[in-house]
Amino acid sequence: MTENGINKDYSCMDDYDPNSILPDEALKIIFNKISATTETESIPIRESLGRVLATNITSEINVPSGRNSAMDGYAINAVDLPFNGKISLKIIGSSFAGKPSNIKIKKGECIRIMTGAIMPDGSDTVVMQEAVERSGDTIALGIETKAGNNVREAGEDLAIGDLVLEKGIKVTPADIGLLASLGLAKVTVYRKIRVAFFSTGDELRSVGDKLDNGAIYDSNRYTLYGMLKRLGVDTIDMGVVKDNRKLMDKALSDAKGKSDVLITSGGVSVGEADYVKESLLKYGEVDFWKVAMKPGRPFTFGKLDSTYFFGLPGNPVSVMVTFYQFVQPALKRIIGEKATSPMLLKVPCISKLKKRPGRVEYQRGILECDDTGRMTVRKTGAQGSGILRSMADANCFIVLSLENNGVSPEDLVDVQLFHGLV
Ligand code: AMP
Ligand code: MG
Repeated sequence: MTENGINKDYSCMDDYDPNSILPDEALKIIFNKISATTETESIPIRESLGRVLATNITSEINVPSGRNSAMDGYAINAVDLPFNGKISLKIIGSSFAGKPSNIKIKKGECIRIMTGAIMPDGSDTVVMQEAVERSGDTIALGIETKAGNNVREAGEDLAIGDLVLEKGIKVTPADIGLLASLGLAKVTVYRKIRVAFFSTGDELRSVGDKLDNGAIYDSNRYTLYGMLKRLGVDTIDMGVVKDNRKLMDKALSDAKGKSDVLITSGGVSVGEADYVKESLLKYGEVDFWKVAMKPGRPFTFGKLDSTYFFGLPGNPVSVMVTFYQFVQPALKRIIGEKATSPMLLKVPCISKLKKRPGRVEYQRGILECDDTGRMTVRKTGAQGSGILRSMADANCFIVLSLENNGVSPEDLVDVQLFHGLV
């Protein structure tokens, strides 16, 4: 391996750039430089949806708190169950959810019981009501019921001392339910982080403006807004900065230290109007890379005072791909989320895919099941880095390795699902 992580043998690859680093390598450098926030806040559990837990949650009670019935029926003692034929039991009381019976059942007796009601003393089994014949205050039951049936033990969901939720998880609806079932009104989460972003380019117009010759609407601030919102961070939209050295200097010096993270798009390649690099070098420690990936080759990462900086390429698909591959995993770490590797599925690809060796490609795909239930993936159509529709139509990335030299129909490919990623 060379210093930048790419094996010398790759130098014969058509699409190889000797100054580029591998995506994995870039991610490693980013992870080494960032640290997670340590500031926390205590918030009502409903507001914790999508936030990251800052402490382990251990159960201080049993859930359910007592042994109770899983069915509407009759609580009995298993010693009364027949081996053959039928037996009759006398109903001596009833136990409802929230209104337990304090009568102890003896041999030959039973208690009418509802789902969630505490099991009366002397009972250990519930016969469901559909399995008995009732006449007056007597029931007759056969051999269907087995000892211990239809009883929920105290603490069978959560027992005292159980680790219920781990620090670093993102709270889901089920987690909020668990917190509520423990009787917790508030929970401690990491504070929200603030992410500022702006677009660069003289050609950019904002929605609502007139499009003059050669101009395009700025879509990157909108995809960035969407991706950031889904992560649950606070966003600061700084608008569009023109391709002008002074304006770029001002934007960066204004932004540094004001947010936890700053993201820009465009102006990081080597064109004549690409001023981001020059300005950045004035204000912070910044690494410029070419990453051996497609789309998204030019990419910048660094720090301006206390603000982490990500300089994404300008093309709309490159913005989304570099965000999902680098910025999102980094933001998740900054907000204290436990690290997980993206799940890759191996799936047959039914499209022919063009690819030259030398870069890792993130083609946009549609993962679907055919009529027989077989899972396949196909590409979304044209794969240019300016074709944002390829992202909108897709539900996954088809990840093709550096060495990959094209895909023939039915070849197995690695698929990274948007679900869970986005
Ligand atoms: P750049 O990296 O600035 O050279 O931009 C690369 C390409 O992406 C150019 O065709 C730009 O017009 C386009 N682009 C840059 N920023 C945006 C944006 N915010 N919205 C849509 N397209 C953009
Ligand atoms: Mg530009």
